[in-house]
Amino acid sequence: MRRETLIGLKFNRLTIIADAPYQGVDRCVVCICDCGNEKIIRIGNIKSGHIKSCGCLRLERDSYDGQKNNMLTVLEETKMIGVIRYLMCICDCGNKKIIGLDVWKRGAVKSCGCLVKKMGYIIKRKQGR
Ligand SMILES: [Zn+2]
Ligand SMILES: [Zn+2]
Repeated sequence: MRRETLIGLKFNRLTIIADAPYQGVDRCVVCICDCGNEKIIRIGNIKSGHIKSCGCLRLERDSYDGQKNNMLTVLEETKMIGVIRYLMCICDCGNKKIIGLDVWKRGAVKSCGCLVKKMGYIIKRKQGR
């Protein structure tokens, strides 16, 4: 029996890029999500629409409006650039800044840049320059 070729097919956000080892009797495939994540998923779950993304879809339904992380409060979500979501944030100092959602969530960026400037200044003073 010839196996159906599923590579290249797309279901929701998931594009099948390769076959994966079976999990028990279930055929699995390697998928790449629109967000860039790769995930091994049972083919049945994809075809039935039970799984639509690597998991990012569920996260993306959440709204971050008004939430604050460090000094940055989210005003609104701006449009996506490629597969990356961006948020329009307002810093405690009043500056607005567009930041990648992921970066904001991880707290990798804590301010519009004013914090870094301030800390840099303090470090310089401590070093006696
Ligand atoms: Zn994804
Ligand atoms: Zn700031």
